[in-house]
Amino acid sequence: MPVGDTLKIRGDALRVIEKHAQQFPDEEVCGLLAGKGGVVELALRTLNAAENPETEYEIDPKELFAAMRAIRASGAALMGIYHSHPNGGGEPSARDIAEAYYPDLAYVIATVNEARGGPAKVRAFSIRDGAAREFGIEIAGGAPSGAAGPGSSKQRR
Ligand SMILES: [Zn+2]
Repeated sequence: MPVGDTLKIRGDALRVIEKHAQQFPDEEVCGLLAGKGGVVELALRTLNAAENPETEYEIDPKELFAAMRAIRASGAALMGIYHSHPNGGGEPSARDIAEAYYPDLAYVIATVNEARGGPAKVRAFSIRDGAAREFGIEIAGGAPSGAAGPGSSKQRR
């Protein structure tokens, strides 16, 4: 869980989110964030199973279960959910707020700039009781190699 007002995330995990959003600038991409010790170490890409991926996201349930198993097996915890907004701001939408069922998770939103393919901007929020509060994002770099745990799969694709 994020600590205080800051979401600590490793640079390589942040880049996974940015690249995922850039790769599909016309639809919402989504994934999970896992880590331990208050630091997000891993971003896991998942399929967007929503009927209209241009405007909504729904993490494919099978992928969700598989990812949760992998996260637990590596000794980490689920810390957040990320998705992208192809059109529009980096604020959580009304739907994002209504469907935020996990008050202890960080909701990370990436936006791709209008030049399409340009750098993604990433913001993080806590959403609880129908209200969103923004976190700062702090890059937690320089973790010693092997910190992600034995044999952990760093990235699915
Ligand atoms: Zn959204």
